[in-house]
Amino acid sequence: MANKRRKGTEPARVAEILKRLEAAYPQAKCALSHRDAWQLLVATILSAQCTDVRVNKVTPDLFRKYPTVKDLASVRQEVLEQDIRTTGFFRNKSKSVIGAATKLLSDFAGRVPKTMPELLTLPGVARKTANVVLGTAFGIAAGVVVDTHVHRIARRLDLTRHDTPEKIEQELMQLLPEDRWIDFSHRVIWHGRQVCAARRPNCPACSLNDLCYAKDKWPRKK
Ligand code: SF4
Repeated sequence: MANKRRKGTEPARVAEILKRLEAAYPQAKCALSHRDAWQLLVATILSAQCTDVRVNKVTPDLFRKYPTVKDLASVRQEVLEQDIRTTGFFRNKSKSVIGAATKLLSDFAGRVPKTMPELLTLPGVARKTANVVLGTAFGIAAGVVVDTHVHRIARRLDLTRHDTPEKIEQELMQLLPEDRWIDFSHRVIWHGRQVCAARRPNCPACSLNDLCYAKDKWPRKK
């Protein structure tokens, strides 16, 4: 017997959420400045636990100083740590950037690969980073980007009840049409930044208000 879909994931409701997100954020796109897939990969590694605004302050100087993959493969880790210090977790991030650059040179002729399994072989690259690069740099929908905003808002909208990015992504991939995977994340991320903030969502101004029954939605109905 086919599983009955729970209320939050009924196709008509999901379609309405997609429609309203599209209407609210028609031009939503990745906020990390980049010129190509390599720069986006580095920027995404640097964006872990850091704001895109902060990363965008660091990357112009970084790519002026190290314009090629080879440059970042050969820099000493202590030197790179100082270049990216303000993005936080700079030791791990430096190791990942140098490791990814080195692997690109050794295994991929210095180019960013275009498949999920290949991207996942790069140090410091998990599904979220790989999805950002594939979706934004190459327009390839291999999955759904689940960052902190998508994680929070997918749960508030009851599109998922899972609590790990991997499971949330799998559920969203089941739920959303494949040709919406890329835009959905961009739009939800914008929604999270502009309206559905973690601590104090601006529910009265939210275009999804009547579809949302999140526990922390406000004001509560009497
Ligand atoms: S109604 Fe509030 S909690 Fe629900 S999606 Fe909108 S801003 Fe977020």
